[in-house]
Amino acid sequence: MNANRLTQEVHFEGVGVHRGEKCLVSLAPGPAGSGCWMQRDGQRWRCLADSVVEVERCTVLGNGQTSVSTVEHLFAALSSVAVYDCEISVKGSEIPIMDGSALPFVQGLKPFLEPGPAIEPLRLSQPLWVGNEQSQVLALPSPVCRFHYALYYPKTPIGYQEASYEPLSDSFEQKLAPARTFALEREVEWLRAQGLARGGSLNNALVVLADGFSSPLRLEQEMARHKCLDLVGDLYLLGRPLLAQVFAVKAGHRWHVELARKMLRELAENAG
Ligand SMILES: [Zn+2]
Repeated sequence: MNANRLTQEVHFEGVGVHRGEKCLVSLAPGPAGSGCWMQRDGQRWRCLADSVVEVERCTVLGNGQTSVSTVEHLFAALSSVAVYDCEISVKGSEIPIMDGSALPFVQGLKPFLEPGPAIEPLRLSQPLWVGNEQSQVLALPSPVCRFHYALYYPKTPIGYQEASYEPLSDSFEQKLAPARTFALEREVEWLRAQGLARGGSLNNALVVLADGFSSPLRLEQEMARHKCLDLVGDLYLLGRPLLAQVFAVKAGHRWHVELARKMLRELAENAG
C-alpha cells in the first residue's frame, strides 16, 4: 500500500485535557521504514501497542520512565494521511486536545505530505476478538479495510448510534475527523471532583446533558463517529495499515489496544 512521508516538521500547541497544562508536539519526518517513535524528557519509545501503559479515558504511551497521554486523535490523523515513519517530540505530559477532534491535526499535516515508500499492510489469517459482557471488538480477515462502531447509551440523548469508515474510499476529514470528544454530564462532575479533565471545556468536548448536548452537533451520530476515530487512532499502534473488517460495540481504548496487541502477536507467530 502507498504511504506518505512528511516534507518538514509540523507543530501543534495547546492544553492537555487531563492536567490542563500547555503542551507542544512536533512531528518530524523519520527515515524510510523506521516506524513512528515518540520522545519526551530524553526518553524514546516506538509507537506500537506494546508501549501502551494506560487505557483509562485515553491512550497513554510510555516506557516506564515517562509517558504521554491522549495520543489517539493525533494517531487517527497520522493513520488517515498514511504517515508511518515519523519522530514525535512532546513537551508536556499530553498531546494537546485542540478542539477535541482530529480535524486540527489532519488539516495541519495535509499540506506537508509527499509520496513515501510502499508499506506492507497487516492482514489477518483468522478472526480475532476481544471484550466482555458489555463491550466487544471483532476483526475479520478481509481484502478491504472497514471500521464499524455501534454505541448504546440508553436513557440519554445518545441512545443507539452507528458509524462506519473505509479508509481507502471515505474522506476522513468529512466522516470522522470533526467528531469531538464527549462525556456524560455526571462523568464530568465526577472527573472534576477527582481533579481530572482540568483542561476540559466546552471548546474541546461535547457534554451530553439530560435533554440534549452542550453545543450543536457537528455531524449526525457524532459520538459513534468519535469512537470510530478513537479506534482508528488506537489501531495506528499496529505500526502499519490494516486490511480487515473491524466491528466494535460499546468498546473503548482498553479493548482497541487489546485487539491491536492480539493482532501483533498473531503477526509475530505467523512470521515465526
Ligand atoms: Zn477520543
